[in-house]
Amino acid sequence: MLVEGAILDADGPRAAYVRLREGRVVETGARGTDSSHGRERRISGIVIPSPVNGHTHLGDAMSTREPPPGPLARLVQPPHGYKFRLLATTPPSEKIRAMRAALARMQRAGVAVTIDFREEGRDGVRLLRSAARASGVRTVILGRPLARPIDRDELAEVLRVADGIGLSSARDETVETRRAVARACRTRRKPFALHASEAAREDPTAYLEPRPDLLVHLTEATRDDLAAVERAGVPVAVCPRSNALFGRQPDLRAMERLGVTLFLGTDNAMFHSPSIWRELEFAYVGSRLRHRPVSALYLAGAALVEPWKWLGVPGAARVAPGTEVRPLVLRLPSDDPAYQVVTRTTEHLILRFGTRRAPPQGGA
Ligand SMILES: [Zn+2]
Repeated sequence: MLVEGAILDADGPRAAYVRLREGRVVETGARGTDSSHGRERRISGIVIPSPVNGHTHLGDAMSTREPPPGPLARLVQPPHGYKFRLLATTPPSEKIRAMRAALARMQRAGVAVTIDFREEGRDGVRLLRSAARASGVRTVILGRPLARPIDRDELAEVLRVADGIGLSSARDETVETRRAVARACRTRRKPFALHASEAAREDPTAYLEPRPDLLVHLTEATRDDLAAVERAGVPVAVCPRSNALFGRQPDLRAMERLGVTLFLGTDNAMFHSPSIWRELEFAYVGSRLRHRPVSALYLAGAALVEPWKWLGVPGAARVAPGTEVRPLVLRLPSDDPAYQVVTRTTEHLILRFGTRRAPPQGGA
């Protein structure tokens, strides 16, 4: 199989051909220079690394109802928000079924990895592990201990089954809690992640000390706050559709100009489908609606490149022979690959080859 068109990966967009065998890249080169085999199937399109959903709460997928009106806190703030009441009253089997369906949907759309914040302590992590068992989507589970103040034994139990910890915001947690969690994560070489400046601005000294490995949202961050995050070298997962539901948007233009490392996530699965393609398009269009335009290339990097580096699988961010993760082929015009990928992809334009197995579990 020969794809004639373009590559968009960690090395940027370029005109190219890609030869694939059983879904793996065996050769790439400049467009028009391939030594063609007579009977080889040829298609045109754009070849990209498989995308990573940088922030989900798949546990929420059990609800498919329209959310009640009200501020963010009333809907999603632990422990009494709407979502936490639903989580507490939904049987485990139903939660597993819903998470499995969400993962299947992501797999059909070509997503290779999701970085999920899983509430409900050790049992919550186990439910998602169970739902993800046969999935082709690698599920990086950032669990959340329940006891406050932190119970060291419980935290150790959560970290034994989770890939790391994902807390609510700095203002929902004491500095003692954040320090205890960060220390336990460091010891086990697992990531510590935190929501920040979502509903209201928080001071970066609160969410950068102790330093997290990943921040989520920063919708209310000022330019100086974002500069501090960039200096600290902490990546930020933004979720523009989720923020828009509550009348907010992250300042993607400022993030791009400052060189913030960006991931893109679809956030609460009860409010939004876990479609990274919809998120890409909305992020791009939304930035223009606010007259704060962001480049398609920066957004493409947030879905296709940066999370792979964070996960310790940098080779997966390149379309090249020998990479462990199968790339995707998008049947799109290839003249402006980043713009096409960000604004024009729909799930039926994705071509996959062979059975997709879960990508390597190394790194985070
Ligand atoms: Zn979140």
